[in-house]
Amino acid sequence: MEFNDIIKKKESNEQLTKKELEYSINNYINEKISDEDMTKLLQAIIKNDLSEKETIDLTDIFIKSGKTINLEEIKGSVVDKHSTGGVGDKTTLVVTAIVAASESKVAKMSGKALGFTGGTIDKLNSIPGFNTNLTKKQFISQINKIGVAISSQTEDLDPADKKIYNLRDKTNTVNNRGLIASSIMSKKIASGANSIVLDVKVGNGAFMKTKEEAKVLSELMVKIAKNFKRKAIAVLTDMNEPLGYAVGNSLEVQEAIETLKNKGERRFAKLCIFLSSQMVAMDQDIVIEEATKKVKESLKSKKALKKFEQLIKAQGGNLKNLPKSKFIINYYPKKKGYINKINTEKIGKALNLLIKESDSKYSEGFVFRSKVGDYVSTNPILTIHTDNQNIDKVLDILNQSIIIKRKKITKEDIIIDIIK
Ligand code: URA
Repeated sequence: MEFNDIIKKKESNEQLTKKELEYSINNYINEKISDEDMTKLLQAIIKNDLSEKETIDLTDIFIKSGKTINLEEIKGSVVDKHSTGGVGDKTTLVVTAIVAASESKVAKMSGKALGFTGGTIDKLNSIPGFNTNLTKKQFISQINKIGVAISSQTEDLDPADKKIYNLRDKTNTVNNRGLIASSIMSKKIASGANSIVLDVKVGNGAFMKTKEEAKVLSELMVKIAKNFKRKAIAVLTDMNEPLGYAVGNSLEVQEAIETLKNKGERRFAKLCIFLSSQMVAMDQDIVIEEATKKVKESLKSKKALKKFEQLIKAQGGNLKNLPKSKFIINYYPKKKGYINKINTEKIGKALNLLIKESDSKYSEGFVFRSKVGDYVSTNPILTIHTDNQNIDKVLDILNQSIIIKRKKITKEDIIIDIIK
């Protein structure tokens, strides 16, 4: 078999066999295929897509590229969630704590920032001392002890996705349904979850820009889960503005804590309660009303906040000295009126630029004070947190991204649809 022939086959829109996909992935991991050549295959996939069969095959190959967590190693059932990627998406930090405080075990394997979207691992790495590289043994033992662990893929878990994920990020080959579905589902299945809740983001700050695209991705991922004998649902959620107020690693950790203290943005809190309730209901096989009651009680009693602190401590983190930027700069509206639109992908790119041009990857970011539908006049729309005061390019992006008009608008509910 020749890799060049495989690339050509995909370039001419033919379906690849499992053997061809296996050959490609395994030889890439063993460094017999270069980044450059693998990028050509990824580009051909972006152009011509993967069929359902190719996506399921790829998921299986990813899973088998490493070890898997045997369900029996964890006492009791385990539930997991995954987002397809958004801007300001700190949901995992809140939801894992709520669910673990509501008596379900959470085994969460997360990723780094991908394209214009943020990554839970980067957010957690902003916490001094926090270890995001647990070994398989540490991961399992922590779940058995405190009911929750969040780690990046361990060296031996789904290494193929880890390597391809990094390449996709570097080569702008992220946005493809089959690549996203196999990347997410292989991690979920390899890390041993019995039940999986998928948060499929839709809108101008997501990979899936329309509900139709998001629905097709959701159905595909739920189908893959069933194929591997796991329970899964997908929730389509709105990503037409940053989630919550904060965009940026340590700023989002702070916002997650505020949300766990019941002081967060209402819309974001609603999303966290909804996803947590779905996870608890699936895992404990109880009706959604009962699960929601449990979840709300965990938040109200601060059990979820305590669980978050326990999780941070268990992985060596210290929340006292979260990194802070040297400068906080107000960004004012260019005119009076209602925010009609926030180009959220551009906000994600502005964050990447801020990070690139500064010394610190972790403290940079934005904190919104007004969002879509809000009236703005003389108060700042947001604050920019940065170590570098030379932010002209970032200001340009903000000017282009935040559209203010006289027309009053109401935004869509954050929960759009559920695919079972
Ligand atoms: N999250 C992942 O883990 N993989 C993707 O491809 C996109 C989002």
